[in-house]
Amino acid sequence: MTDLSPDHPAASSPSVAEAFARARHRISRAARAAGRPDEDVVLVAVTKTQSDAAVEAALAVGQRTFGENRVQEAQARWAGRKAVLPDLNLRLIGPLQTNKVVDALRLFDVIETLDREKLARALAEAGSKLGVRPRVLVQVNTGAEPQKAGVLPGEAPALIAAARALDLAVEGLMCIPPVDEAPGPHFALLAKIAAREGLGVLSMGMSDDYETAVRFGATHVRLGSALFGPRSKPAP
Ligand SMILES: *Cc1c(COP(=O)(O)O)cnc(C)c1O
Repeated sequence: MTDLSPDHPAASSPSVAEAFARARHRISRAARAAGRPDEDVVLVAVTKTQSDAAVEAALAVGQRTFGENRVQEAQARWAGRKAVLPDLNLRLIGPLQTNKVVDALRLFDVIETLDREKLARALAEAGSKLGVRPRVLVQVNTGAEPQKAGVLPGEAPALIAAARALDLAVEGLMCIPPVDEAPGPHFALLAKIAAREGLGVLSMGMSDDYETAVRFGATHVRLGSALFGPRSKPAP
């Protein structure tokens, strides 16, 4: 809470507050157009690389659900705040290494990036050590992109079954469609796998495509730049 940068445009509260209002309005509109109640869709504010002032501005408008993609960066930003804000909901949306699972489970409410059985086993083991039942989403590489994390669509059922057998709380699926393709078919594929597996949570849609994601059934949209402006550092 020392890195206040009041001159940064993204850090000024009015603009962050306006951006939240705009995003919430668009989410409601897209939900209603799809015949869904707007409270079906949770706005996840992605605060990776953002300034402390931006985080405070989000908290000031009542935002409590946040996504982060790195464990250590998230600890620095959220560990102190978590102690005083019991209603925070923190979601890991970046890759998780097995040697960080204990730290991750201490901080995060939900791990959205379960993508391999080894990680499922590590989470189960850490969960029993900490006395918590890990809540997870399985990340699906819907575009089968070689450089992207996530299980291939055809392998998702086996990973879901393995995670359930380890008594992880598998709540749903998450995806990041290829940047150069229309996202709709990827969202549709994720929704189809979730329906077959009886999973209710669909984390899909980012700043450029969240309205489309809501139309395809997203329950969680992950917005960074639409809320806070461009990130200061490129994200991996
Ligand atoms: C950074 C990130 C986001 C937010 O991206 P924006 O395009 O800024 O909305 C969403 N999901 C994941 C997994 C991310 O890493």
